[in-house]
Amino acid sequence: MPSDGDRVRLARRVRRLLRVDPGSVDLGAIDPRSTPGFPSRPGKGRKAWSRAEVAQIGNLLSAYQERMYAAARAGTSRRRLLLVLQGTDCSGKDGTVRSVVGALNPLGVQIKAFGAPTPEELAHHFLWRIDRAMPPAGYVGVFNRSHYEDVLVARVRSLVPPEVWRPRYDQINSFEAAAVADGVAVIKVMLHISYEEQGRRLRARLEDPTKRWKFDPADVDDRDRWDEYQAAYADAIARCSTPAAPWYIVPADRKWYRNWATANLLLAHLADLAVDYPAVELDLAAELARLDGAPGKTSEKRPAGRPQRNAR
Ligand code: ADP
Repeated sequence: MPSDGDRVRLARRVRRLLRVDPGSVDLGAIDPRSTPGFPSRPGKGRKAWSRAEVAQIGNLLSAYQERMYAAARAGTSRRRLLLVLQGTDCSGKDGTVRSVVGALNPLGVQIKAFGAPTPEELAHHFLWRIDRAMPPAGYVGVFNRSHYEDVLVARVRSLVPPEVWRPRYDQINSFEAAAVADGVAVIKVMLHISYEEQGRRLRARLEDPTKRWKFDPADVDDRDRWDEYQAAYADAIARCSTPAAPWYIVPADRKWYRNWATANLLLAHLADLAVDYPAVELDLAAELARLDGAPGKTSEKRPAGRPQRNAR
């Protein structure tokens, strides 16, 4: 079994393998069934191994998360982390939130799902609602869909004309650069599934009564525009993968790889934040003495209204 140090080293390697360099992106050249960085295991053992590893990585993640949270509470650090999840319908955004983000301490997690903008949101700049949802100091923020919809669905469905969506790439880059400069570690993940796998998952939603609630006929309309979406994704990723806030493409046909890879991206970033527990200034000896007190004295002096421990 790997040590925690091994896990962090491997997580940094996975991050390097999945990171998109600025420039053009050929999504067609990335196999959605591939498993970059996944240690070789016997065929059948991979799923079980991934599940056990994600649980172990989850323990590490929550340990790092607690340091970040504690430092923010003490006012010694404003670092925070934002995980942006994008992907076509059925790519596994919800599943990733459940399996990976679910390993964190919910106390320090802020999850926001972005649907079609409300009339109030439409009255503002497209980044207005995003800015309001950014994680506070010490938190892990998760965006299930994001400002990228404004250059994806908005472009493919012609919700706004090209002269409106084209300048958005630069606006997104400026917005994210400012967030990074202000202490946010931004992890942008595209869950990359194949057309065939999306078809299988949509079919399962229709055939399985426990999944039917997730089926939206509009998803099939979007499937008809698969190529346009892939082109819009490729452009968004190429134009907005910056050194400060790069994109990561996670092959996602295999759920066990998707979860493991995303957990590793979180781990690499949280470890690199290197936030430690705040130093607490206390007269430790005095506080301990106060806590211990002199036996027998405390019960007489206990203020009214504070029940004795074990009192019924
Ligand atoms: P999901 O499909 O992610 O499970 P929903 O059923 O709530 O969640 O769908 C969200 C819908 O909102 C998607 O169809 C998405 O394209 C749409 N949406 C999200 N952001 C925007 C946006 N900025 N402009 C228009 N539509 C958007």
